[in-house]
Amino acid sequence: MAERITGHTELIGLMAYPIRHSSSPAMQNEAFAKMGFDYAYLAFEVDNDNLEDAIRSIRALKMRGSNVSMPNKTVVHKYLDHLSPAAELTGAVNTIVNDDGVLTGHITDGTGFMAALRDNAIDVIGKKMTIVGAGGAATAIEIQAALDGVAQISVFNRKDEFWERAQRNVDVINEKTDCRAELFDLDDLEILKAEIADSCLFVNATGMGMKPLEGKTYIPDASYLRPDLIVADVVYSPAETALLKMAKQVGCKCMNGFGMMLFQGSAAFELWTGKPMPIEYMKETLGIKY
Ligand code: NAD
Repeated sequence: MAERITGHTELIGLMAYPIRHSSSPAMQNEAFAKMGFDYAYLAFEVDNDNLEDAIRSIRALKMRGSNVSMPNKTVVHKYLDHLSPAAELTGAVNTIVNDDGVLTGHITDGTGFMAALRDNAIDVIGKKMTIVGAGGAATAIEIQAALDGVAQISVFNRKDEFWERAQRNVDVINEKTDCRAELFDLDDLEILKAEIADSCLFVNATGMGMKPLEGKTYIPDASYLRPDLIVADVVYSPAETALLKMAKQVGCKCMNGFGMMLFQGSAAFELWTGKPMPIEYMKETLGIKY
């Protein structure tokens, strides 16, 4: 790093709170170094109270851009000049690009998930998928899948504080894309079974399976799955959730959350540099398997 930083090096940020645990600085700086790009990526503890000042500093310091994470993803749009179509429909931003003082907000979580599917030779375009969740990760995946051309999406969620957002996601997809989406209560297990049986891909996009719900899944037993079903989980810690363990035993092709994590970073990297991340090198260096 000492050799890399010069008077010309441009700054890219990550603005969130808490953020010190993030693996994004290690990932992005490794990729910049490998590609010989003169950027440095640093994490900043920014919450909603100092977000406006922090965004202003992107222009003042002529930073190339920034990632934003919680609690800023759904409020940062107020301080930006433009939004990508996916950011607009999702109502969230995780990547900002600064083009000569003009700030554009993007969301790369959904593109990251779809790119990870493609990297795994999984094709869901024109087909049907079933997904559980309506939080940040789920919303980004649902909207991007619809924009990319998935034909039908069955969304399940508990009737908790995310239910309204689930309804909003389904409405936005039906109004703004060619995809047909429908919302179901996760408590209706017979319907869940039937929708999974009719889908080529099943996705867990909730925290089920990671602490404090590690070892748990809302899928009651293996009869809900079949060998030619693809099962994806957004959780990457643990790398194999209870759901993926069950799916592997059934013989399903599986994908954990590392792919989404890597490719959302890669999509941001490409927005800032115009070049894709060296994916195979990153997988090897970071020891990522998904
Ligand atoms: P969130 O808090 O925004 O959403 C939580 C979702 O989980 C809601 O749909 C909620 O209804 C549901 N939920 C909560 N408890 C549940 C339970 N007991 N049973 C069933 N559903 C339940 O969270 P988020 O930011 O969307 O994150 C969800 C998961 O995705 C987390 O595990 C997070 O680590 C992971 N994630 C992964 C990536 C990645 O790159 N792989 C990116 C973002 C988030």
